[in-house]
Amino acid sequence: MGVERCYNTVGTGGRAAEGNGLLNRRTLRVYRNIESPLVRLIFMIITDYHVHIERGPYTRDWLNRFIEQAHKAGITSLGISEHAYRFHQTKHLLDNPWVNQRKTQDLDEYINLIQGAKKDAGIDLKLGIEMDWMPENSDAMKDFLKQYPFDYSIGSIHWLGGFGFDLEEMKGQWRQGMVEDIYNTYFGLLEQMIDQAPCTIIGHADVIKVFGFKADAYSYGWHRKLTPKIKASGMRVEVSTAGWRKPVKEIYPHPSWIKLLVQSGVPIVLSSDAHKPEDVGALYPQAIDLLTTANCINLAVVRERV
Ligand SMILES: [Zn+2]
Ligand SMILES: [Zn+2]
Repeated sequence: MGVERCYNTVGTGGRAAEGNGLLNRRTLRVYRNIESPLVRLIFMIITDYHVHIERGPYTRDWLNRFIEQAHKAGITSLGISEHAYRFHQTKHLLDNPWVNQRKTQDLDEYINLIQGAKKDAGIDLKLGIEMDWMPENSDAMKDFLKQYPFDYSIGSIHWLGGFGFDLEEMKGQWRQGMVEDIYNTYFGLLEQMIDQAPCTIIGHADVIKVFGFKADAYSYGWHRKLTPKIKASGMRVEVSTAGWRKPVKEIYPHPSWIKLLVQSGVPIVLSSDAHKPEDVGALYPQAIDLLTTANCINLAVVRERV
């Protein structure tokens, strides 16, 4: 699957951008219409590769609402990344009572909608999918990804066995005394996922902090251990503004980890994890500010599937 680095650099403007053929006069005009001077000044391709449309019907009208918002936010490359567990075709990948109640969608219908919209979407539109990493299903997951024409895939951890740690209805299972263990379990699984590198992008890498429970394990220890492994794996790391909209009110991953990843040369993807049209590109000016402060001058961009 083809996620390539985009060599747009801050300050070099249109010339460097035209070199890769993705940023053009039209997108420059879009940037100039953006209110934020910060975004206007940074001639980057602006991406949002973590967007869910599953709360509405698989129709062009519904998809267009996300595309319209992407235009407003100055996004030039938009990827839709439905949760794999929503599809009937993924019963073998994740099977528990919570997800089974929500396994209501047809994967072919989703793929046809996005592939069919690519030509005239008016935006660089990509077909993505967000996978739940379950170590026991690693091989099946890789086979699944090969079977379908996804442009990219996001590997995320939402389940520690049967514990959906980011679900409001399972929040009671967090116990202060167990927080350290939960963190270690989470990061241990993340390490396994990185070793297997089944997907192109790591989704919300420290989402375990979602409710604001913090542990000593939430520290440079795990960050330092995992960063070289991520670099070696070839996976990209998503910087997600969703964390700012969750109880923890902190970007994913933590700014200090972002800095370390950038220093280590790990490609960064920028995303919102929107679940409704108005959240596409949410809080991007702040995120771009943070990224530039961390010396991130390239965003990874999804090219054609290879
Ligand atoms: Zn997720
Ligand atoms: Zn998501």
